[in-house]
Amino acid sequence: MTAGTGTETGILQTIARIREEVCALHAELTRYGLVVWTAGNVSARVPGTDLMVIKPSGVSYQELTPEQMIVTDLHGTPVRGTNVGGGGTVDWGNPPLSPSSDTAAHAYVYRHMPEVGGVVHTHSTYATAWAARGEAIPCVLTMMGDEFGGSIPVGPFALIGDDSIGHGIVETLKNSSSPAVLMQNHGPFTIGKDARSAVKAAVMCEEVARTVHISRQLGEPLPIDQGHIDSLYARYQNVYGQ
Ligand SMILES: [Zn+2]
Repeated sequence: MTAGTGTETGILQTIARIREEVCALHAELTRYGLVVWTAGNVSARVPGTDLMVIKPSGVSYQELTPEQMIVTDLHGTPVRGTNVGGGGTVDWGNPPLSPSSDTAAHAYVYRHMPEVGGVVHTHSTYATAWAARGEAIPCVLTMMGDEFGGSIPVGPFALIGDDSIGHGIVETLKNSSSPAVLMQNHGPFTIGKDARSAVKAAVMCEEVARTVHISRQLGEPLPIDQGHIDSLYARYQNVYGQ
């Protein structure tokens, strides 16, 4: 890279910032007990570009560093650098690691949901237990009304290897207010305006999955009227959120 243009500095700074953020957010997955071993992943769209940043495959959580976060295009292919204005190029130095095996699903979401800036996937225990039964989590808590605006839906069974997981996530979430989907027999995927919001949705998804499961052991949880759910959601998203 030749020293200099504002464009080069800008994209390098942006990518460094997103790498720091994505790396730090992985620590939240372990802090909240949402992942074991190397399972789970966080990604973020790089604002103003057709790029995303995601965790490498097979690196333990304690060893993750910002420099290991991999920059890919929106088809999940690692990209070393880009052309910038005036014929210059910039290289942000991808590590010699493969991106997460779930990268194609994240990339599909970014391609088809332009409003999404972050995606998270875990196999968190309670949410995945609902996914194993293929059962949506009913909206029986005011915090579910606040965060999800209704039940947390189930997406189709899909195998890794093509776009079927990504397609299942998008088809389920585009008709739902929920930022979380339980992919059947697999586990939760969550989205947000940025990676931090998607991590929050993953934490809240596990929390309500656990609480509603426990409530069920004692009887049938009471439903909340849709009108009340709608006003909880509107208040929390539009008023409380600012
Ligand atoms: Zn998975």
